[in-house]
Amino acid sequence: MSEWQQRLRGKLGAAMDTPEMLVPLASSRLVEEAQSVRLAEQHLRRATQAAEIVRQDWVQESDRPGLYLVSSNGKTLYAVDTNERTCQCADHQHRHALCKHLQAADVVEAWLRQEAAEQVELCAA
Ligand SMILES: [Zn+2]
Repeated sequence: MSEWQQRLRGKLGAAMDTPEMLVPLASSRLVEEAQSVRLAEQHLRRATQAAEIVRQDWVQESDRPGLYLVSSNGKTLYAVDTNERTCQCADHQHRHALCKHLQAADVVEAWLRQEAAEQVELCAA
């Protein structure tokens, strides 16, 4: 592991102390596989921002499964489709990035699925 990868891993470790650890876990692979320090730091920044979005409760469900309205400042809303893997934000539109909104929606969706699975277990018991 190169020196900069170790440094990033250290930062990632701190981010994983939060309950939103799913976000850094999901993107730790992106960070490790990044082709440059600049790209790795971009991934890390997005993951950290996604954790903050989840913490602020800025991910809203919609009537359609897989469609979420996500904000990164509590005001502007972006439509995120976790099935199509799309987001309306510039980061995603221009760089085709796994943007902070998409990552935050992924975390909330994973939690909702987990909750639903636990409900089924309760009913079966
Ligand atoms: Zn986005």
